[in-house]
Amino acid sequence: MVIFLVGISGAYTIIHLYDLNRIIDSIIKSDLRAIQLGENALDDLYSMTAAEDKYLVSGDQDYYRQLNEIKKTFNDRVGELEKIADAGAKVQLLTEIKRAANVYYGLIERRDPFIMDNDSGDGDYHNYTADRSRITREIDDHLHKFIKLSVEDRDRKLTQSNKLSTQASFVFNISQSAAIVFVMFITFINARKINMPIKLLGERTKEVAEGKITEPLNIKSPPEIKALADSFNTMCEQLVEADQMKTDYISHLSHELRTPLTVIKEASNMLQAGIFAHAPAKQEELFSLVKTECDRLISTVSRLLDFSQMEAGNMYFSFQPAKLTPLLEKSIAKLSPLIQKQAVKVGVNVPEDVPLLKIDKDRIEQVFENLLSNALKYTPEGGNIAISAKMGGGNSVEVSVSDNGVGIPKERLVQVFDKFKRVDDGRSAVMGTGLGLSIVKHIVNAHGGRVWVKSKVGEGSTFTFSLPVS
Ligand code: ADP
Repeated sequence: MVIFLVGISGAYTIIHLYDLNRIIDSIIKSDLRAIQLGENALDDLYSMTAAEDKYLVSGDQDYYRQLNEIKKTFNDRVGELEKIADAGAKVQLLTEIKRAANVYYGLIERRDPFIMDNDSGDGDYHNYTADRSRITREIDDHLHKFIKLSVEDRDRKLTQSNKLSTQASFVFNISQSAAIVFVMFITFINARKINMPIKLLGERTKEVAEGKITEPLNIKSPPEIKALADSFNTMCEQLVEADQMKTDYISHLSHELRTPLTVIKEASNMLQAGIFAHAPAKQEELFSLVKTECDRLISTVSRLLDFSQMEAGNMYFSFQPAKLTPLLEKSIAKLSPLIQKQAVKVGVNVPEDVPLLKIDKDRIEQVFENLLSNALKYTPEGGNIAISAKMGGGNSVEVSVSDNGVGIPKERLVQVFDKFKRVDDGRSAVMGTGLGLSIVKHIVNAHGGRVWVKSKVGEGSTFTFSLPVS
């Protein structure tokens, strides 16, 4: 709009300046010149009559020559005036001047100076002077009229040029002022459109920092600020979600820790009170219960420690060539009391030719234990667990842990590897921290591999991870 406004006013001013230039040019070349030539012609006329008088009185040929020179100059000036005359009235006057001048020249040519002297009382002389003064007055009148017309033309053109320049400067000033007002208006509107939402965002951010999260921001503003507001809303939603998750998780973890502690406390009370003093088998059972619950507590606390290490970026790895089968066997042996207790069959199918892997043995053992203990947790008594390995793409080995347990709903599959995420569909009775799989993912990724799951509710789950060949 501003460019358009300035462009239009510029074009208008240029056209006016062009007209102004044309008028001034015409004043200088035509009117001023005509006035000057007219005045010079008048002077010529007076000089001509003076020279004529001198010639007629003295009969001196020098005066006659002078008279002829002035006549030529006069004729030249009239000729030039004819060229620049720009109106019919002026042309007509010049024709009249030329005609009268010719009459005047004829009069001079017909008069003999010496006869005039000898014949001073002659009536011819009086007639001559009367004719001459009539004709020169006629030329004089015409020349004055011509000069007057030129002066009028000049004044008219000057008034016109004055009007043009006033108009041009008026339009220019108005358009410039309009452009400035327009720019200021647009700037103000734009600044307001940007400032208001930023101010609002600033206030809401302050509120969020103080822990007050209210309804989402609905900002109608430029796309960039709107995108910022949308990100802010998403951040608030995530904060609310994280807050809720924290509350839920603390309550879950308290339960996770309190259950074994309660069991340990009850069992030690019973032992201390000597309730089973005469039943050593029962006592043995209570001791083994205390040990199991202690193991569970240690495992929970270890997971929490692993997780805090992982989050702080302090989980270190020492990669070395290692065989897969001994690690698997070690993990199965560790969990064998649980396997036996649940009467679960564990089948291992690892081909002989599986190459050496480049791994951190302790951490991979941890991965096996997590996956195996999950399979045991979520598989009912008498179920089946299968561990297998095969060569995968990109020089890696793929290891799978399958069970025919409860399975995982399809919509929760992507979440199980997220920290604190547990599938809570009536199986909350099963203890867990919701950290095991996120630790598994972190360890496998640190080895340059990846982990994924396939599962069907009621049919079982298969967790697979890849490890690099040494
Ligand atoms: P948790 O300590 O709760 O087991 P994990 O991170 O190990 O935490 O597992 C996350 C969730 O994934 C579990 O709460 C569980 O619902 C689901 N899950 C893991 N492994 C299995 C499995 N083998 N069968 C069915 N569900 C499983």
